[in-house]
Amino acid sequence: MDDQTWRDFANCKDADPNLFYTDPETTGSEASAQRKQAKAICNNCPVREPCLAYALKHELKGVWGATTERARRDNRKRLGMVLNDPSAGHLSSLLTQRYYEHV
Ligand code: SF4
Repeated sequence: MDDQTWRDFANCKDADPNLFYTDPETTGSEASAQRKQAKAICNNCPVREPCLAYALKHELKGVWGATTERARRDNRKRLGMVLNDPSAGHLSSLLTQRYYEHV
């Protein structure tokens, strides 16, 4: 089971969840503006790295760790991450730092 104690320190604890999970009927510039607001909340979040690692591992929807689902999907392929390989174990801080260097 994943340790999710990092969630206690999340900048988004009291934020509007609609910013992080855009309604499918919200599109275009409005959806883009919501994602930008979400990423701005993430940018100085103290738990950005474990949040991103969690989202990568579980292939989650929405904005996590200042990244969108699409950005994670695209960059996961590019970095050749084998997230479901049990031998990979827990994603390290180094891996998430490497990810941020490429997005
Ligand atoms: S990085 Fe963003 S989504 Fe993740 S816990 Fe922090 S504010 Fe929330």
